[in-house]
Amino acid sequence: DNANLYAHFQQHFPTDKSTRLLCTPEGRTVSYGEAEQASARIANSLLKLGAKAGDRVTVQVTKSVENLFLYLACLRAGLVYHPLNTAYTTAELSYFLTNAEPTLIVCDSQATDLLSAVMPTECVKALLTLDADGSGSLMEGAANESSSADIAQRIGTDMAALLYSSGTTGKPKGIMLSHDNLRKNAQTLVQAWGFSAADHLLHMLPIYHVHGLFVALSCVLMSGASMAWHSGFRDQAAVTALPDCTVMMGVPTYYTRLLNNPAFGSQSCKSIRLFTSGSAPLLAETFVEFQSRTGHAILERYGMTETGMNTSNPLNGERRAGTVGPALPGVTVRIVDDTGQTLSNGDIGNIQVQGANVFSGYWRMPEKTAEDFTADGFFNTGDKGVIDTDGYLSIVGRAKDLIICGGLNVYPKEIELVIDDMPGVLESAVIGVPHADFGEAVLAVIVADGQAPSAEHIIQHCKTQLANFKVPKRVEFVATLPRNAMGKVQKNILREQFAT
Ligand code: ATP
Ligand code: MG
Repeated sequence: DNANLYAHFQQHFPTDKSTRLLCTPEGRTVSYGEAEQASARIANSLLKLGAKAGDRVTVQVTKSVENLFLYLACLRAGLVYHPLNTAYTTAELSYFLTNAEPTLIVCDSQATDLLSAVMPTECVKALLTLDADGSGSLMEGAANESSSADIAQRIGTDMAALLYSSGTTGKPKGIMLSHDNLRKNAQTLVQAWGFSAADHLLHMLPIYHVHGLFVALSCVLMSGASMAWHSGFRDQAAVTALPDCTVMMGVPTYYTRLLNNPAFGSQSCKSIRLFTSGSAPLLAETFVEFQSRTGHAILERYGMTETGMNTSNPLNGERRAGTVGPALPGVTVRIVDDTGQTLSNGDIGNIQVQGANVFSGYWRMPEKTAEDFTADGFFNTGDKGVIDTDGYLSIVGRAKDLIICGGLNVYPKEIELVIDDMPGVLESAVIGVPHADFGEAVLAVIVADGQAPSAEHIIQHCKTQLANFKVPKRVEFVATLPRNAMGKVQKNILREQFAT
């Protein structure tokens, strides 16, 4: 029995190897058989370069078909896949490389100088290139290798991937994900979301992050389905590709951008059975507008790099705007107070999770790992939430974004919802800033359209809806909220910007 994730994927591959795995907007089609052969060649070449099972392969490349082959190659060779956002620059790269200590690095050809300057030369055996068009030394080296390869024998707890968190709340942490973590979550999602070989997924997400790499890809590979493979999100390309697709996965900004495209409508959705959203909160307003435009209720789910997916609104059953649904099968979710006492439904507290999907620990951070796991084996997510009487979880924000004003807890989300409802407000982010009297003061950062309400008007409106201690003391207007590639609002940047 081999716990290697690739071996499990392979059991679901179509028996007819000429079956399509993916097509690209440029008109390229790749069959399951081709993907198997290409990944075997790459696996053979990586092993020949001296990489051994358990070694890290750091990959910082533009998303491409060959990038997918490389991920599959690492799995089947038993190497640990370590992807990096292409946006990272020198100082960040130096941290990731010294921390991960890869044996091999694969990067865009333009980045070789930068990477060779910061890579730890003691451990790196080769620096290979892979460009967006598939050219470069990686594929050149693989071309002469055999197109068959054994699937490395792995046990369930062996590390399959090392992913760093998005760095929304601090320095990104290395997260060790095992073959079993990834397989169990994939099986759960295929079941929960009804994936089958008949599905064709619109894949526009980056694959250096859990959403595109595991949630989206695993659903396809664990069900013998196929996908429309795009190097990134573009709303017009999505409108063109959607009529052939049965499922689309996205971050909330994809859906707001689709709604801003006049060509997007029910015709685009004629074959779609499911839209899912995650990685950042989906505004109830977007949910409602999307439903009225297309007839589809976006299925919102909740997960994180450390755990994969924890909760999901149901495939069949009520999808509730503003909630991330009940716990997925095999996952236990509980809400506890700061002393660790489990709270009743309806009370806001810290979200903790347990299940086969949950990672074993942070890479080379034993203290952080010990701090974030409870004595009874639950992982403290760092998110705050509340579970209602029928088990639906709502996220109210991150523990680190909680504002303590005069000793009282203020949940930014509650205030944001009140402000977002005002005409003229597009969106808002509520943060705490240092305050001499209260410790922290509530500050609302607003993105408005043409007819913006005044700061006084916003404060007045909040006074009619919220207890006084929650009412913003200050209102600032910005053109857009700072967001990272996954659409997450970077409140740490706002806190710095408005600290004084
Ligand atoms: P870091 O841990 O480095 O600060 P990060 O937590 O943003 O970064 P990820 O693992 O990519 O890194 O993101 C997980 C987080 O994203 C969750 O903890 C949660 O705060 C947020 N998130 C994911 N899905 C949702 C959702 N549907 N609604 C609200 N928040 C979500
Ligand atoms: Mg996190």
